[in-house]
Amino acid sequence: MLGLRYFVCERCDSVHSGLEEPAACARCAAVAFAELPAGTGADAYFTRGLRGDR
Ligand SMILES: [Zn+2]
Repeated sequence: MLGLRYFVCERCDSVHSGLEEPAACARCAAVAFAELPAGTGADAYFTRGLRGDR
């Protein structure tokens, strides 16, 4: 919607959303991320960890 992108930490699987890849994972400080392709279930993946948010 706003061009948000999703990045999954390769160490702890924490999902970060943003316009750019984070410099480091907020949870474990790893710097390796796998970007989730836009429009391929990224939203579902992201909200899975935020069940009940809406
Ligand atoms: Zn991490």
